[in-house]
Amino acid sequence: MLSYMFRKEYYYCSSCDEQFTTDELDYSVELEWYCPKCKDNLDIFALDNDEKLVVQRKYPEDLVLGDRIYVVGYGYHGIHELKNKNKIKKGYALSLLEHGRLEVTKDQWLNIHEGTWDPNDTSIDINI
Ligand SMILES: [Zn+2]
Repeated sequence: MLSYMFRKEYYYCSSCDEQFTTDELDYSVELEWYCPKCKDNLDIFALDNDEKLVVQRKYPEDLVLGDRIYVVGYGYHGIHELKNKNKIKKGYALSLLEHGRLEVTKDQWLNIHEGTWDPNDTSIDINI
């Protein structure tokens, strides 16, 4: 599973220094994971089990080599670096380090691991 939403999420634009709820993101076409004001990629603060993650979401055409892709499935959670990307008929074929080949459609967004957050950081007003 790639287009995986975490149990609780908090959306933050570092350029505008503003936070958003999912209601403020545009559901009308498809989920857009960028800031509704400046169009920068949103940082998403999430809790996955006990891990405090910061991810960004990108569609396959926006992925760049070196992106750290969060792969989830059947009890497995792992982060794998993108080594190669090729356009195929259904979308893209991705080669992930220590994971292998993965085929995705072009409208399938992925979680890109940016880092972790500090629960003691009081600037993050998040109740998770
Ligand atoms: Zn913004």
